[in-house]
Amino acid sequence: MKTFEDFKIKKQLYNAIVDLGLEKPTPIQQESFSPILAGNDFVGIAQTGTGKTFAYLLPILQDLKYSEQPHPRVLILVPTRELVIQMMEEINKLIPYISTRVVGVYGGTNIKTQKKAIGDGIDIIVGTPRRLYDLALTNVLRLKFIKKLVIDEVDIMLDFGYKTQIRNIFEYLPRKRQNILFSATMTTYVDDLIDGFLINPVKKTISISGTPLDTISQECYAAPNFYTKVNLLKHLLSDKAEFNKVLIFTSTKNNADRLFEALEIDFASEVSVIHSSKTQSHRSTSIENFENGTSRILIATDVIARGIDIEKISTVISFDTSFYAENYIHRIGRTGRAEEQGRSILLYSEKETELKEAIEKLMNYTIPVRELPAEVEISTQLTPEERKILFPEEEEEVIIEVEREGGAAFHEKSAKNSKVNAERKSYKRKLQERYKKPIKRGDKIQNMKAKKRKR
Ligand code: AMP
Repeated sequence: MKTFEDFKIKKQLYNAIVDLGLEKPTPIQQESFSPILAGNDFVGIAQTGTGKTFAYLLPILQDLKYSEQPHPRVLILVPTRELVIQMMEEINKLIPYISTRVVGVYGGTNIKTQKKAIGDGIDIIVGTPRRLYDLALTNVLRLKFIKKLVIDEVDIMLDFGYKTQIRNIFEYLPRKRQNILFSATMTTYVDDLIDGFLINPVKKTISISGTPLDTISQECYAAPNFYTKVNLLKHLLSDKAEFNKVLIFTSTKNNADRLFEALEIDFASEVSVIHSSKTQSHRSTSIENFENGTSRILIATDVIARGIDIEKISTVISFDTSFYAENYIHRIGRTGRAEEQGRSILLYSEKETELKEAIEKLMNYTIPVRELPAEVEISTQLTPEERKILFPEEEEEVIIEVEREGGAAFHEKSAKNSKVNAERKSYKRKLQERYKKPIKRGDKIQNMKAKKRKR
């Protein structure tokens, strides 16, 4: 276990740490200090509360020499105005004995004032991507001297759709620079960013300490597809006493919306949905309703759910099995807090089995499997995404139809059709065998109801 003394931190910085009463570096600080100080590209997977901000600020400030040059050498990008303000506070805590010039920039405020502050000369600039890019377009903010780029809360940043702004900002940065990325969760977008822009990064993951496995009962259900999962959920959620405050996770915004539509039919105002494409006021209302008990079911994506602090969640349901095993731990950590018993239910399809096994390996625990209740209908209805995977021929069928009208195409088309139909039949048979019950089509009727409601 390293101490702050082991880091050989310069005196002025060390004095600030002593003033703050920090006794020893947190695990992420232990893992990041040396590789960041050494100038490596770095990826830290750590949540707020782990001390991750100081994990990159300490080595950056340790390395930042006094300079009178006007243009910034460190750029820190964060997704929201609130985070810029918070980041400025954190930096200011560490620099009372160092003369470091820091400016925070974000939208919705007077750009002229920000330009003036930048023009006075700065060492570190903290900002949201859009405003930062606007400033980079002017001659006032020159990014050519940036030596270190930090992107914090990368998952939220990408989920908010800042990908283009980030790429645009990259165009203004020198190629030779150190990239430091921090994210609470891994997502495929974060992976893409790492692959595209980082060079042999050192990667450290801080798993949530004290994963409260003891206070959370876990179970899982095998369900072949989206709408069978919906049927199962409807069955479970009808027990209002047991499922009184339920957080349901989906991996995509699409699935969150689709699930909301399906559940809304039976549960109406009891269910809300949030993800990053919903407006701020929609998100606030949904969270408020869930918190005060107006709605007892909240559907959320991984990234957005992380930012909300809601107590006393009775059950966490993973509607989609999380692609990154760590995310499952984050999810279930939302229930069973403060010594209370929590419950986690994972739904997995055949193609999600491998993901479930990765989760079990990470936890070193096999999640008990429950039989689908007899009342739950196995659906043969598929979402467009599931259809694409199961019947890739279907798309070709349409193309052939359009390309070659007339006699010859007819035979080809009907041959294709019969093949697809045969595949569909075999899918139904497969489900029948696997789940050993007749396959009904009840959900189709519900779907028609949904369409009617929308009109
Ligand atoms: P963060 O994860 O960066 O949001 O930090 C969460 C809180 O932990 C902040 O209020 C920091 O001031 C505090 N903190 C950071 N490093 C340490 C440390 N080594 N010991 C105790 N508290 C810390």
